[in-house]
Amino acid sequence: MRKITILGATGSVGQSTIKVIQAQDEKFDIQAVTANSNVELLAKQAIALGAKHAVIADDSYYPALKDALSGTSIEVSAGEQAIIDAAKIPADWVMAAIVGMAGLKPLMAAITQGTVIAIANKEPLVSAGQFVLDAVKEHGATLLPIDSEHNAVFQVFEPENKSSIERIILTASGGPFREMSVADMKNVTPDQALAHPNWNMGAKISIDSATMMNKALEVIEAQRLFDVTPDQIEVLIHPQSVVHSMVEYCDGSVLAQLGASDMCTPITNVLGYPKRLKTPGERLDFTKMSKLEFHAVDNTRFPFVQMAYDCLDSGLQACVTMNAVNEVAVAAFLNHKIAFLDIYDLVKVALDNIKETQLNSLNDVIEYDSFVRLNADSLIREKI
Ligand code: NAD
Ligand code: MG
Repeated sequence: MRKITILGATGSVGQSTIKVIQAQDEKFDIQAVTANSNVELLAKQAIALGAKHAVIADDSYYPALKDALSGTSIEVSAGEQAIIDAAKIPADWVMAAIVGMAGLKPLMAAITQGTVIAIANKEPLVSAGQFVLDAVKEHGATLLPIDSEHNAVFQVFEPENKSSIERIILTASGGPFREMSVADMKNVTPDQALAHPNWNMGAKISIDSATMMNKALEVIEAQRLFDVTPDQIEVLIHPQSVVHSMVEYCDGSVLAQLGASDMCTPITNVLGYPKRLKTPGERLDFTKMSKLEFHAVDNTRFPFVQMAYDCLDSGLQACVTMNAVNEVAVAAFLNHKIAFLDIYDLVKVALDNIKETQLNSLNDVIEYDSFVRLNADSLIREKI
């Protein structure tokens, strides 16, 4: 029986992962499920899956989790270190679905056991890129992409023909404000920004989709995962979210992966890889599809995508800065502390004012990431 751990089990990707697992004929031995604070759902998941461990990051919820799982043999633990320890429990397949840089240390812990990691959590790849990849190599781990675009590329990427690949084309829905003027974006509320037209996702990535920071992070994620040059990565707006991404070869062939806007497909693909399993998710209905559109990103209204290329050009420090300030700014926007367009301003100001430091190790990244967050926090406090 394959041993599985789900980091970020209560989130959007975590819940889809459980749906996929439960739909299989194959039985899995669930080692651990983890969450930040949603005790009720975590306890329910742990019981339904017969997990060995249930781990909550926020330790103030330990008594509630203990209580909810009393009378079961499920081991309960809490705190940041407990999540890292859960990621170290030997497993054959680990879903990395924590949101943000909070997922970095658990991801690194999973990597050290040299296992297969289904990676949804893109932020650590953006901010700790080479250090993550070096550890993957050192420990013989495997990263399989869950992000729908990267999973699409993965499915049509021919490693043996890598030198014949001319372009990776990442598609983007354009988010809920795809056609909105900057003047109108000034007043959008978190609720409007959370209402994604095609995908049902966690709060942070939904806001990232509305600002198109999500695509910016994905450009960097693609560069890390597929080891191509930034100019080989292109972004196209594709409002229907049917073509999840494409790879163009030198013979002119463009291979694409299509599917419903349902994370169950990439999750099922990665759970089955190299075999194909049956998804419990939605299917594409071609008869309901009248048109597929593709057009260029409007870099004036959505400047983050170009910013990602500039960050790749300027180096790791810029990537860490962009990601860290964005995480802080998105949280502030969701808490009604800043306006939607302040997210752009905060990231831009931070990138314009970088004081060069060497990031020679993962620890350097972690320290610098905290430093950037503190600065962003104080800028936000000045604003309010
Ligand atoms: P989410 O907010 O729905 O869930 C996040 C999960 O992480 C939850 O289980 C939460 O409890 C846990 N978590 C949050 N903070 C934590 C902390 N400090 N310590 C430990 N656990 C913590 O997020 P999501 O939408 O499922 O996204 C997860 C990751 O996958 C993100 O990096 C996102 O960019 C990526 N992703 C998501 C989707 C999607 O469709 N939702 C698609 C592609 C990629
Ligand atoms: Mg994506």
